[in-house]
Amino acid sequence: MAEKKWVYLFSEIEKAEKYVGGDWENVRGLLGGKGANLDEMARIKLPVPPGFTVTTEACNAYSATKQFPEGMWDQMLAALKVVEKDAGKKFGDSANPLLVSCRSGAKFSMPGMMDTVLNIGLNDASAQGMVKLTNNERFVFDSYRRLIQMFGTVVLGLPDEAFEDVLDGFKKDKGYKADTDMTADDLKLLVEKFKVVVKKHYGKDFPQEPLEQLKLATEAVFKSWNGKRAVDYRRATNISDDLGTAVSIVTMVFGNMGWDSGTGVAFTRNPSTGERILYGDYLLNAQGEDVVAGIRNTEKIATLGDPLPEANKQFLEVVKTLELHYHDMQDLEFTVEHGRLWMLQCRNGKRTALAAVKIAVDMVGEGLISKEEAIKRVTTDNVDTLLHPQFTAETKAKAKKDGRFYASGVNASPGAAVGQVYFDADLTEKMHKEEGQDTIMVRPFTKPDDVHGMLAAKGILTSEGGATSHAAVVARQFGVPCVVGASSVVIDLDKRVMVWNGVTVKEGEWISVDGTTGEVYVGKIDLTVPSIEEQTDLLTLLNWADEIAGMQVWANSDYPKDARRARTYGAKGIGLCRTEHMFFEPARLPIVQRMILAKDDVTRKAALDELLPFQRSDFDGLFEAMDGQPVIIRLIDPPLHEFLPSEESLLEEVITMRVKGETKGLAEKENLLEAVKGMHESNPMMGLRGVRLSIAMPQIVEMQVRAIFEAASDCTKRGVVVHPEVMIPLTGHLNELKWIQPRLIRIAKEVMEEKKVQFTYKFGTMIEIPRAAVVAGELATLAEFFSFGTNDLTQMTFGYSRDDAERSFLGRYVEEGILPKNPFQTLDQGGVGKLMKMAVADGRKTRPSLEVGICGEHGGDPASVAFCYSIGNNYVSCSPFRVPVARLAAAQAALDPELAAARKEALKAYVKK
Ligand code: PEP
Ligand code: MG
Repeated sequence: MAEKKWVYLFSEIEKAEKYVGGDWENVRGLLGGKGANLDEMARIKLPVPPGFTVTTEACNAYSATKQFPEGMWDQMLAALKVVEKDAGKKFGDSANPLLVSCRSGAKFSMPGMMDTVLNIGLNDASAQGMVKLTNNERFVFDSYRRLIQMFGTVVLGLPDEAFEDVLDGFKKDKGYKADTDMTADDLKLLVEKFKVVVKKHYGKDFPQEPLEQLKLATEAVFKSWNGKRAVDYRRATNISDDLGTAVSIVTMVFGNMGWDSGTGVAFTRNPSTGERILYGDYLLNAQGEDVVAGIRNTEKIATLGDPLPEANKQFLEVVKTLELHYHDMQDLEFTVEHGRLWMLQCRNGKRTALAAVKIAVDMVGEGLISKEEAIKRVTTDNVDTLLHPQFTAETKAKAKKDGRFYASGVNASPGAAVGQVYFDADLTEKMHKEEGQDTIMVRPFTKPDDVHGMLAAKGILTSEGGATSHAAVVARQFGVPCVVGASSVVIDLDKRVMVWNGVTVKEGEWISVDGTTGEVYVGKIDLTVPSIEEQTDLLTLLNWADEIAGMQVWANSDYPKDARRARTYGAKGIGLCRTEHMFFEPARLPIVQRMILAKDDVTRKAALDELLPFQRSDFDGLFEAMDGQPVIIRLIDPPLHEFLPSEESLLEEVITMRVKGETKGLAEKENLLEAVKGMHESNPMMGLRGVRLSIAMPQIVEMQVRAIFEAASDCTKRGVVVHPEVMIPLTGHLNELKWIQPRLIRIAKEVMEEKKVQFTYKFGTMIEIPRAAVVAGELATLAEFFSFGTNDLTQMTFGYSRDDAERSFLGRYVEEGILPKNPFQTLDQGGVGKLMKMAVADGRKTRPSLEVGICGEHGGDPASVAFCYSIGNNYVSCSPFRVPVARLAAAQAALDPELAAARKEALKAYVKK
């Protein structure tokens, strides 16, 4: 059997490809990203210094046995011979020495997390040889002292300070400020001092034998795969521990050989803006790290042609070749040695969200990539970033440095907000409306009657609640940045302050809330505000996404203005209008309360008659905004006590009035208190709400259906095309639908007859209770559509309270790995998802034309969108601000062969109607 191959010359890429079965990802897995790309550059005849790569397999073998695997060292020696020949130099030779670097490089870039040693091969003898060759004593001894320090710390594990203290003391004695002040003689002396440091701390001399240097350096790079930095980085970035690092041994080329030499880094396009302009810096007469370290002021890459015209010409060709080859923007490192260009690294360049979109769209236009590839390249996080006001990383870092970091919680609604703190909804609204202030509403938690404050606020902070708590849901829907569950913040509503870690913020003071990361800062941080209409590249990309997706994205919108925004963001329908929010408007709430407290049907009917025109005009606006598109209106869902003042506050008011002897209005308050007490439920989320409330008090939903169909009829008469869909929430039994649905359909028909118009409409239900999913086949006998209310479905499937779980135990569950993700943010596919999949299949068995969607918060989460795609949803519905993200996620799901196959299977029963 042939000996296992552990070492590949840069010219042996074909052999590596053959070994891994031809797949480029696997080549990167074997040779590391750096090694694979060096090989690839060599293959396409770009100037790469001779070298070879020791595989990740060798690293893994070393990690297992703490020894080089059999044959590896011999293969390195053989490869070194070839490199010597190519370079025309000899490793360890004193007259014409070859120096090499020993570089780490894993499959995925782990910048700075593992070790690299430069200038290997230098010793007392070869240093003399190099001096003769280069006529540059300073350069040689500078390289030598760098080798001893790097070797000492990286390979021999000596403390950095051992060398830094000597260096600092030396410079101080001489009165030098910078390293560059040191002369050749100084550096020679420093080499000797560094050798003493090695002897003192290591107990042995700095190894003069170049092969021993190489062996120990290779071993050190292998070991650095399991160093703390690298392990921590892998944890944070989900890189698997068993990949291992490759080690590339590369002939040293020197940019510090004089003024015809230099070194630089460049991106083939601007990584901030995406513009197709070469972007980067270089330094003449310098080594690689000098450019990055910022010791000297660098020159712009555009001027490289002035001092180095030939190398520049060649470099521009290389840039063109590499983009054409990789079909992506490249991040390059190069060195020019005596006018000759050498490429040391190329990789796909990191970029901002703005640049990611521009580059992808431009490259389609340039014929470099397909639309599908462009869709795959841009991440959903990129899209999200582009649409929310932002703090930049720099401004936040500065705030942190200034000690202004305040607290952190759940990142409930992305975007950044700066404003003055108010501790209740009324004041938040008042200060915004009357004083024109930017306000941040801070509450322990929010309730539906806080909505006006939430709408008036630039941002929201709560100390309780999780990702699907009321604050989070409403905030996302309205695109208000929001941090919830910042449980270490103590809010004192009486003293009107909040305290965290000893820092007190008083009402009216400024804070900055980052809903993208969940961080809160004291004081103001500068914001940048994006707008979708101006982002033509993003719009282009999202239109391609729609062509590819095969599943629509709708929006959850309660008001016409949100529906209009949803449309500009590309929504193809409204998937959820929560009608109860309309009841909370100040002009309507008293009527709603009168309706709830009515002692008889006549009084209740009178109140409902008053509410009807309000609802009709709400729906009219929605239909008009969504002209030609479906609008799903959900009938009233929450328990009625939510529309009344809280028992505690009423009790307090009644007691205060009694103590003060105030009688005016006391009887009404007492009655109200009795009514509220009478409605008390121990577990209101499982109580009289949803369809149960409709059955207990059908007049409310009858009024709502009348309002929907009157509005739809009026719109139709005006030429607006309407597709109303009436949604019944919280169904768990077919008999519930049997009871309520025919009553409502009768009203719908009545109105259409009265108004003498015809339009198509649907009646359907939410699947929010596990039992509903289990009997979906039965429900579909009446329901023409299903919409998964995954907030409640998650709550009821797990038995976790959606309002409390994140605050009390979910965070710990995720930390401990008991749950992989917060199931209120990302759909639990194994449990909740299984119920959904079953419900879709059973529902469509009964009714092949069943329309299926999702309107829980998961509808805007990319992983959940992908799952909904795979089970055959017709659409996902999310907050208007998440629509672009969901559009991209849907298209990306469509481009995933496994998900596409699953969808095909799921849609077998489905017939379009
Ligand atoms: C749900 O439960 O997922 C849903 C959309 O309804 P709500 O959040 O209003 O309870
Ligand atoms: Mg619900």
